[in-house]
Amino acid sequence: MNALPELLFDKSRPGKTGYSFESDPIPETEQYVDPELQRAGIADFPSLSEVEIVRHYTNLSHLNHSVDSGFYPLGSCTMKYNPKVNETIAAMPSFTNAHPYTPHHLVQGNIGIMRDLEARLCAITGMKAFSLSPAAGAHGELTGMMLIRNCLSHRGNPRRIVLVPDSAHGTNPASAHFAGYNVKEIPSGPDGVLEPHTLREHLDKDVAALMLTNPNTLGIFERHICELATALHENGSMLYMDGANMNALMGIARPGDLGVDVLHLNLHKTFATPHGGGGPGSGPVGVADHLAPFLPPPVIPKQDGSGPRYHIPDTIGRIKNFYGNFLVMVRALAYLMSLGRSGLRNVAEDAVLNANYIRCRLSELLDLPYQSRTLHEVVFSDKGLPVSTLDIAKRLLDYGIHPFTIYFPLIVHGAMMIEPTETESLETLDLFVTAMKEILTEAESDADMVRNAPYNTPLRRLDEVQAARHPVLRWQPREQE
Ligand SMILES: *Cc1c(COP(=O)(O)O)cnc(C)c1O
Repeated sequence: MNALPELLFDKSRPGKTGYSFESDPIPETEQYVDPELQRAGIADFPSLSEVEIVRHYTNLSHLNHSVDSGFYPLGSCTMKYNPKVNETIAAMPSFTNAHPYTPHHLVQGNIGIMRDLEARLCAITGMKAFSLSPAAGAHGELTGMMLIRNCLSHRGNPRRIVLVPDSAHGTNPASAHFAGYNVKEIPSGPDGVLEPHTLREHLDKDVAALMLTNPNTLGIFERHICELATALHENGSMLYMDGANMNALMGIARPGDLGVDVLHLNLHKTFATPHGGGGPGSGPVGVADHLAPFLPPPVIPKQDGSGPRYHIPDTIGRIKNFYGNFLVMVRALAYLMSLGRSGLRNVAEDAVLNANYIRCRLSELLDLPYQSRTLHEVVFSDKGLPVSTLDIAKRLLDYGIHPFTIYFPLIVHGAMMIEPTETESLETLDLFVTAMKEILTEAESDADMVRNAPYNTPLRRLDEVQAARHPVLRWQPREQE
């Protein structure tokens, strides 16, 4: 087992330094800060040589599992491989050095990138306009719900209720609540999709919208979506589609054609920006015509030479400073340009193919509660297993594989939500299937061994309750005697 590395504070030895400039102290006449206000040093600031610091951080980086180091089938998160060319382009100084306050006539190229990306996202989704401002998926959801609220208020009544199926992503009810709505959960049917009669039972003049994750968290396409949209529209309600998993649909189905009023995408899932470390991300929001007047500023001009529009009479207001996370947009456009139209469709087809391969291979070993055909991910249950879903997830770490999403969605007992993505080869998928088979064999013969996994990681089982309730997020100097 690897040992957990010491902290820099522990490795510190007095007198060591990374740099030693031979220089005289700054003469008092050239000092801009009153010497009385200057601090002599920082308590317990670590002293190390440069090479020790480099090794420390390099070794720390190797403790992380990442898409670049191994298979990462974390369901709903689309941990696909992100081509390095996107990074190279986004790191070009002309992009990284552009200040967000630069006069717009000096950054027409950058504005053009946003315009081009918006146009491509409209083409992919069938929506009429996009805002690139939101910084994440959940932020896009909030923006979308605010757009619905604003539009309905303009029609005279914002209404009170948002319906969310039990197969929706967990952020959906939270976003509706944040936008001031009461959330009502409604059940999905026996084949894992929302049925129109269920929607109709809950539809009245107080319902502002339905938030539909599609494909839903079971990885199943909501095949009644057109009928759902019609029922909503007849009632004066709107359809929000959570499009974070557009990886399964792009080039094949356009939400705008299916009756969706507003949706968000996750550039940091579908459009190849590395994620998992907490950002930056981007959750663009696409709207049908009737919601476009309410979009947040800045609205990117459709023509060269003009500046972004900030004065939008009916806007929901600013939701992010400046233009949003511009470098994520650069990556997304680079990704889209390198793939082209047919490449994009291949992505979706291969993502679905890979998930169905895993589904077929593992359904001999694991319980598959919903038999409907799946798209980009597949969800198994822990039914009949001698160990828990958590035990299997932990044991996978010993095989060098990042676990799948566990215990979500809640409608599946002990859920194992597996999303391989299109960037994995047949060999990798087979390695994963073999690892799962071996773990299940181990569980039959020696359940305790699996229950005590992992063995090869720097730390074994963490106290997750303690970590959530009492996180220690920073090092503090020891009390001075
Ligand atoms: C990831 C995800 C979200 C939330 O996106 P964040 O960028 O993490 O806020 C919402 N819905 C679905 C279906 C997702 O997979």
